[in-house]
Amino acid sequence: MSTSASSQLNKGIKQVYMALPQGEKVQAMYIWIDGTGEGLCCNTRTLDSEPKSIEELPEWNFDGSSTFQSEGSNSDMYLLPAAIFWDPFHKNPNKLVFCEVLKDNRKPAETNLRHTCKRIMDMVSNQHPWIGMEQEYTFMGTDGHPFGWPSNGFPGPQGPSYCGMGADKAYGRAIVEAHYWVCLYAGIKIGGTNAEVMPAQWEFQIGPWEGIDMGDHLWVARFILNRVCEDFGVIATFDPKPIPGNWNGVGCHNNFSTKAMREENGLKHIEEFIERLSKRHQYYIRAYDPKGGLDNARCLTGFHETSNINDFSAGVANRGASIRIPPTVGQEEKGYFKDCRPSANCDPYSVTEALIRTCLLHETGDETFQYKN
Ligand code: ADP
Ligand code: MN
Ligand code: MN
Repeated sequence: MSTSASSQLNKGIKQVYMALPQGEKVQAMYIWIDGTGEGLCCNTRTLDSEPKSIEELPEWNFDGSSTFQSEGSNSDMYLLPAAIFWDPFHKNPNKLVFCEVLKDNRKPAETNLRHTCKRIMDMVSNQHPWIGMEQEYTFMGTDGHPFGWPSNGFPGPQGPSYCGMGADKAYGRAIVEAHYWVCLYAGIKIGGTNAEVMPAQWEFQIGPWEGIDMGDHLWVARFILNRVCEDFGVIATFDPKPIPGNWNGVGCHNNFSTKAMREENGLKHIEEFIERLSKRHQYYIRAYDPKGGLDNARCLTGFHETSNINDFSAGVANRGASIRIPPTVGQEEKGYFKDCRPSANCDPYSVTEALIRTCLLHETGDETFQYKN
């Protein structure tokens, strides 16, 4: 496996410098989504003192021409602080600052889907929507080959890796555990982690969170994963089907509930929402990956524990359904449902906004399109 030169640097030497006292000033690493809607960028600045709230963080700007974000002659873009986290890489009192991106006319950038999602979330706040997402991903070497796989072949058939342990089953646990620990320090609401079906594939869960916060936490958890991976010389990819053929795809299951769903007779609401969702399948597929379904078509084949991208299905505990009602929810007749269609590289703001529009704002209408797997 080829690996990055910077991962080979002696990090012990760095620690000698990092052991110096910090002094008065504070570092803030601003993080934002780039123009592809999948990548993340960061830029660090010095603050005179520790910011106590998001309001104390200054707006900033950057040159959008290198991040696929600028339009026309003026390439200045604005960074609007949206959520603040402890910086696990430089520790207290330094900060990670997740930002929305605005264009030079102060309108949201094309890939700033948080802006509208927040507006939609605020409209339904009285229904207390909770969202929890299960982010799956795959470790790759810098050569694009899955981490730990034989350099010119495949490991044994997939399966035993799921929740597996041992050198022959769990590939890259050091990174997974570092990521989990670092997320907790940062203040990310990470719910857990497990090894997935394909060797080198893993999952972490975020939430449940009410409203817009889930998306903020998921994006920063992705940032932290990539940042930790950088030190190890490994890449975490969110491609929905990194290895074609008989290998599992990679998704980002979305778990959703409202106050009414969580209470007595909740199942009635769950069934009503699923009925609404069933009438807008293609609308969802378009919202569930950055390429309007074309990425996800490689993953949602109807095989390897997925539904087919062209069909809608729902059921209790059915791993091949578009929407799954967890067994405990079926028994207790209240709780949440799991939308298994979002791709691993989905934008959580796009996914959750679409769900709210149909379930809670009663929007209707669908598109017709046949995807080829
Ligand atoms: P599974 O075993 O089905 O893979 P996980 O434990 O990986 O389930 O993920 C369950 C997800 O459901 C978590 O992201 C969690 O935050 C979310 N979740 C649990 N309860 C609720 C709820 N009431 N509303 C929304 N999401 C929920
Ligand atoms: Mn899971
Ligand atoms: Mn999973």
